[in-house]
Amino acid sequence: MPLLEIQSLQVHFPVTQGVLAQKRAWVRAVEDVSFTLEPGEALGLVGESGCGKTTLGRAILRLIEPTAGRIVFKGEDITHLSANSLRARRREFQMIFQDPYSSLDPRMTLGDIIGEALDIHRLVPSTIARTARVSELLESVGLERAHAQRYPHEFSGGQRQRVGIARALAVEPKLIVCDEPVSALDVSIQAQVINLLQDLQHERGMAYLFISHDLAVVEHLCRRVLVMYLGRVVEAGEIREICRTPHHPYTQALLSAVPVVDCDSKRQRIVLKGDVPSPIHPPNGCPFHPRCPIAEARCRTERPELVETSPGRWTACHLVRGQ
Ligand code: SF4
Repeated sequence: MPLLEIQSLQVHFPVTQGVLAQKRAWVRAVEDVSFTLEPGEALGLVGESGCGKTTLGRAILRLIEPTAGRIVFKGEDITHLSANSLRARRREFQMIFQDPYSSLDPRMTLGDIIGEALDIHRLVPSTIARTARVSELLESVGLERAHAQRYPHEFSGGQRQRVGIARALAVEPKLIVCDEPVSALDVSIQAQVINLLQDLQHERGMAYLFISHDLAVVEHLCRRVLVMYLGRVVEAGEIREICRTPHHPYTQALLSAVPVVDCDSKRQRIVLKGDVPSPIHPPNGCPFHPRCPIAEARCRTERPELVETSPGRWTACHLVRGQ
C-alpha cells in the first residue's frame, strides 16, 4: 500500500476586490494532480517559482484546504478530516520550510523549539526524558547538546535549517514535505544539508516529498520526479531517465539551465520566451504553448493529457507519443 496517494487534487484560491471582498476570479494554483509515494521513498517536485509546487505540498499536509480531489495517507482518506481528527495524524507528516530565518521563533531556545513538538504530542513522560530526547535530536542533525540553551540568532543559516530538521524529526514522522530546504543557503552549505537529509532518510526510513526549482539538487536525493508547470504535472518518471532524455519541452528547457548535472551529454541552453502566464487566466490548450519553441496550431486549443509514453514515464505533450 502506498504511504500517500494523491488523486486529481485541485487547489483554487479566490481573488477578492473591494471593501466587500467580492470574489472576482480564481487562482488555479494546482490542477488535477495525481501521484503516489511509497514508504521510505524520496519523490522530487520541480518547477519554476509560481508553478504551484509549494501550494501542492501544503495542501497535502492540509495546511491549505484543497478545492477538489482526494488525499489518502496510509490508506485513510484525510481530505476532509476535521481539525481535531487531523491533530492526531499531524505527528506522521511534517514540513521543513524554505526559510530557516523566519521559520524559527527567535524568542525560544533551540531546546524549546524542538521540545515543543514533543510536548504537543505528549511523547516524553518527564522533563529529564525531554532534555535527553532534545540532546539526541540535536546530535542527530550535527549540532551539540549544549546548543539547546541558545537562540536561533546565534546560528548560521545552515545550522538553523538543521534545527528545522531536528524539529520535524522529533515526532518520528512517516512523511516530510521539504519545501526548498536549501535554496536560502550558500551553495557550500547546501550539499551538507542535502547529505544530512539523505543520511537521516536511510537511518529512519521516512518518505520525502522534496520540492525544489533545482533539478540537480533533486537528482541527488530522489529516484522519481514530477515536473510541474502552471499547476499541472507535465512530466513524471525516474529522474535519471528524465535527465538523460527529457521528453517534455519544458523539462528540456529546465534541464538546459542546470550547469552541472549527472547526465551523459551536454545540452544547449534553451531560453524560454516570456514569463509563466498568470494562473488566474491560464492559456487554453496546452498551458505551455505561449512559451513552447515547437508549439503547433492544435496546442493552442487542445490540452494534452498526461499519458504513459514508455514504462514508468509520463508526459503531457501532443508531440511526445508512446514508444
Ligand atoms: Fe509544446 Fe504543444 Fe507539447 Fe505543449 S503540447 S509542450 S505546446 S508541443
